[in-house]
Amino acid sequence: MKNYDKLFIDGQWLPSCSGKSIHIIHATTEQVMGQVPEGTLRDVELAVAAARTAFTSWAATPVTTRGGFLDKLHQGLVARAEEIAQTISAEVGMPLKLSRRIQAGLPAAVMSSYARLAEDYAFEERLGNSLILREPVGVAACITPWNYPLHQVVAKVAPALLAGCPVVLKPASEAPLSAFILAEIAHEAGLPPGVFNLVSGPGREVGDALARHPLVDMISFTGSTSTGKNLAAAAAATVKRVSLELGGKSAAIILDDADLPAAVKGVLAACFLNSGQTCSAHTRMLVPETCYEEVKALIAEAAATYLPGDPFDDKTRIGPLVSAAQREMVREYIRKGIAEGAELLVGGPEPPEGLETGFFVKPTVFGRVTPDMTIARDEIFGPVLAVLTYTDEDDAVRIANDSIYGLSGGVWSADKIRAERVARRMRTGQVDINGAPFNLMAPFGGYKQSGLGRELGVFGLEEFLEIKAVQFKD
Ligand code: ADP
Repeated sequence: MKNYDKLFIDGQWLPSCSGKSIHIIHATTEQVMGQVPEGTLRDVELAVAAARTAFTSWAATPVTTRGGFLDKLHQGLVARAEEIAQTISAEVGMPLKLSRRIQAGLPAAVMSSYARLAEDYAFEERLGNSLILREPVGVAACITPWNYPLHQVVAKVAPALLAGCPVVLKPASEAPLSAFILAEIAHEAGLPPGVFNLVSGPGREVGDALARHPLVDMISFTGSTSTGKNLAAAAAATVKRVSLELGGKSAAIILDDADLPAAVKGVLAACFLNSGQTCSAHTRMLVPETCYEEVKALIAEAAATYLPGDPFDDKTRIGPLVSAAQREMVREYIRKGIAEGAELLVGGPEPPEGLETGFFVKPTVFGRVTPDMTIARDEIFGPVLAVLTYTDEDDAVRIANDSIYGLSGGVWSADKIRAERVARRMRTGQVDINGAPFNLMAPFGGYKQSGLGRELGVFGLEEFLEIKAVQFKD
């Protein structure tokens, strides 16, 4: 059990004004595995006031000093990496082997990348008779989801702190524990009071209050598109800066000259990562009509290696979903796929054999999906892949772009020039060619209803900066 009974506000651990707790459920055992305080509007007031007070001196702190604090946070994350990986595997269900790399290793690396940017980034430049200054936007409220809980926190908190913005963090209620570990690390690192504040609590209250608060200058949000729309509307009254990282329905286009076995394996991996609970998951596989039968056989073979199981077992490649609600939603989509006439190639809506406890869903692949079907349009956020066929390259691009989303995508081809040509035509924030690896310095974010703004690297830092031009007469 991991019990946190206090919020972190103004450099101190304080009980929440509600005196109540939020229970965290273990994704595999369905047992309560910990609790955190249920923050209230009063707690938001205290945290925002602390951040506001800290703003002037934090903004005036030399950037190299701020970078030095990020170095300490990085060291703290590295020292507690195993605990972080285990905690998130329990909360979210990601296999531990992957959690070590992605849930613990990636946020530590991102923290370090911002410490390095403190040395490299030009906050000032000359432009004719102007001096261009990049200054912190102010108090930043960061509201984060549960699927990559610490990565999404660090992708906001690290650039905000480097920019000179004090932070109020509101983590997701399903997986808040790593945010509390980060607060402990921040406390030990001696961050000045009010620079980092943590208020857990219900999104509709705590998150919404942050979005409306007149003393919060910016909201950085990752989560569902519907919540993102509400939040942007709530923030509009005070003309806050809003950056949103929302849903996706990303397409992987397999061209007719691709290495088909490699492509099929790669797309399944990009779809089933974290049981499909990934906003940038490749959930639509687009294949040439002429290759459909061959792809179908390859899918059957490759999908068989994704046996759901205990995330703490070294052999497991796919764990449970985060919650009962999520499991029900995903099963409903699988039923809908069958009802709308897609061809069920692998999986199905019933629980995997022998796994009645835990929020498990069978990894599922549908063939003969048409672009108008619900499973081709909605973000499912579970291990469900839709295979669609196309006639030629133009048709493939048209289908890929026929979505309200535009977060990620892929192209598979033996010809790099051809793959790049197709990638350029995709209306999406990222495209991976032939399963290329994640680049933590590259901008991450969405076109269309997948979001506003970019995270990571220089692009993520600039979200937290205002730009001032000072003109000189001679
Ligand atoms: P997910 O489906 O990933 O949980 P949500 O958009 O529901 O996505 O939640 C993401 C984050 O937004 C969580 O921290 C949640 O508590 C918070 N949240 C939910 N509703 C609101 C709201 N109305 N205003 C502000 N934040 C919210």
